[in-house]
Amino acid sequence: MKSASIAEQFSVSLRELKTQSDDHVPLLVDLILAQARRHRASDVHLIPAEDRLLMQWRIDGVLHSVASFDADLSPKVVARLKVMSGLLTYRSDVPQEGRVSKFNVHDGVEGEVRVTTFPTLYGEKAAVRLFAETDQFQRLSDLGLPDDIAASLKDMLQATSGVVLMTGPSGSGKTTTIYACLREIVDMFGDSKSIMTLEDPVEVVVPGVTQSQVRPHVGFDLATGLKSMMRQDPDVIMVGEIRDPETAECAFQAALTGHLVLTTFHAGSSVEAITRLLDLGIEPYLLRSTLRAVVCQRLLREVCSHCSGSESVGGKLKTSSELLDKPGSVTALSDSCSQCGGLGYHGRFVTAEVLDPNQPEIAAAILSRVDSHALQSIANAAGAVTLRARAAELIKFGRTTQEEVFRVLGNH
Ligand SMILES: [Zn+2]
Repeated sequence: MKSASIAEQFSVSLRELKTQSDDHVPLLVDLILAQARRHRASDVHLIPAEDRLLMQWRIDGVLHSVASFDADLSPKVVARLKVMSGLLTYRSDVPQEGRVSKFNVHDGVEGEVRVTTFPTLYGEKAAVRLFAETDQFQRLSDLGLPDDIAASLKDMLQATSGVVLMTGPSGSGKTTTIYACLREIVDMFGDSKSIMTLEDPVEVVVPGVTQSQVRPHVGFDLATGLKSMMRQDPDVIMVGEIRDPETAECAFQAALTGHLVLTTFHAGSSVEAITRLLDLGIEPYLLRSTLRAVVCQRLLREVCSHCSGSESVGGKLKTSSELLDKPGSVTALSDSCSQCGGLGYHGRFVTAEVLDPNQPEIAAAILSRVDSHALQSIANAAGAVTLRARAAELIKFGRTTQEEVFRVLGNH
């Protein structure tokens, strides 16, 4: 996806850079990082091609081409990033990973930056991770979840046993949601509850939580770690992700013996999560007696309120009824919107569906191992609101668009 105006804004600032000076490359790299951060990019990709160095930024989960440079700059820019992050400049034949801590460019923004390099056909590709999305999504109330889901999630976090499963595909923000849940539990119970995590790896530090990272090479994996953790007398356990039958079995057994277990699981929908857990070998009765809720979520880009909302654009005031007349289309009326840079979207929010396994019809369906199609029909009949139905509402109210929902959920 090409964004003319972010590319234009970048080229304007590039022209102000002194190309003759000795420190041209360090200044260029500083400029790239500062501008990328200004436009809220989470990642900067520097991709060497045969005849040029292509630069792309990921903003709100979507990659945009921003600039291309002469091919001869390619090794110099990558070398500069390697110097900044303490990587070996003389090795360009192996992938490397390093960090720039306390990164501080001219706009005064500080933070940790991760640099990774990867050898490709035309030289090293560099990817710079600017910040984790979790910076923006600290609390449950920051996620933008539907109110009813946020409320029932908050209720469930006060439970003393059972499993709360966060599901979704990769990049759907489920880890972010689980960290927000941990902070919520710390807020509600302080040090009156022992909260422990077992992660692979620890992605975010949460004060008030005892976090551990597995070391599979010494036999400390999720499954064995969970068994030992039971003897540490925890109230709440967070398991980073269930990927194998042993971890699944241990997590559900832990929930059976009076622990609240929060975990993530890769699945496209909440009913798919159930059928995949049964496929992993979890007994239906164990699912039925421990599972409190299956949340399945997605991140959707939010329509920019500055240029597409009800503000005055080009002298014309757009009303919400006009937005409702044309739901599902991005109307980024101003290419130079100061908030979104003409992309039409600014930021993302979480939308989700919840399956309640304690509803009698759903409980019975789980016990009789019905397939995911049948389970979905049963859930729908029991009043479950699917992700797609939630998305239709969000389009109707102009919070996101048809195109964005199609990008994230597909059309089937
Ligand atoms: Zn805008």
